[in-house]
Amino acid sequence: MADVRTTSSTDGPVAEPGAGRYAPSPSGDLHLGNLRTALLAWAFARSTGRRFLLRIDDLDRVRPGAEQRQLDDLTAIGVDWDGPVVRQSERLPWYEAAIERLAAAGLTYECFCTRREIQKAATAPHGPMGAYPGTCRTLSDSERARLRTEGRPAALRLRATVTEFEVRDELHGRYRGPVDDVVLRRGDGVPAYNLAVVVDDAAQGVDQVVRGDDLLPSTPRQAYLATLLGLPVPSYAHVPLVLNTQGRRLAKRDGAVTLRERLALGNTPEEVVSALAASLGSTATSSSELLACFDTRRLPREPWILDVHGLLRSSPCP
Ligand code: GLU
Repeated sequence: MADVRTTSSTDGPVAEPGAGRYAPSPSGDLHLGNLRTALLAWAFARSTGRRFLLRIDDLDRVRPGAEQRQLDDLTAIGVDWDGPVVRQSERLPWYEAAIERLAAAGLTYECFCTRREIQKAATAPHGPMGAYPGTCRTLSDSERARLRTEGRPAALRLRATVTEFEVRDELHGRYRGPVDDVVLRRGDGVPAYNLAVVVDDAAQGVDQVVRGDDLLPSTPRQAYLATLLGLPVPSYAHVPLVLNTQGRRLAKRDGAVTLRERLALGNTPEEVVSALAASLGSTATSSSELLACFDTRRLPREPWILDVHGLLRSSPCP
């Protein structure tokens, strides 16, 4: 049964279905790994009666024209969505409002460290690996004023009160991971991904986040941030990535890995969907066939090793 979220309207409380979403960064064409994750997120949402939303994470890495190409490719593989596409660049006041609330609660501080300084600094003795070592956490007002007058651009960080947080993931079970003083607003004034994603998912009624498992380590930070902001923590399913035959994350340099490249080589969209479905243990040739038999318990837990040259060969004829 679908999860429901209750909202009030003039007619009294209304039960709205929850939502899943896909949130690509418009930095270029989606590759087969991205398309597979989108298809999974769509099937998770649709198979549980949820709405499915599309959000463009365009606070960074924007390539002109990429958004429309991504939407066209998703449509071509049978992924549809509800309502208008939402862009993060149009939602800056929401992120600022959340930052203001954290600042008002004394949970933020300015950080003047450069990326290089952070890399060089030793990680705090008991802090999580790779975590921000807290260099600027205890700056005095006068030190801060001096750094500002030096013209250093300040990022705004969360003053985290925990070092770990636990989430539940449909595929990974209980997952406990590090929380550090994450950046909320970057030195260039742009809200940070970890903040924006939390604010957006809650504002859009997203209660199911399905995405690549490269984002699993960021999830405890995001769930903690949601909790601090008094927002609901969605359910999570981090799905295995697609790897190349060398075991590395699929990338554009691996050959013909985008839908357009496959079509140019003579594959049809159905063949591409069939290959994606086959990697999920399904013989479906369309998204609707995949959905008809979709069972999250049967999903592979291992990455899909894609042999770009072998798997999608269409006709043997020249
Ligand atoms: N925009 C992010 C990406 O393309 C994904 C964000 C998310 O799913 O939370 O990697």
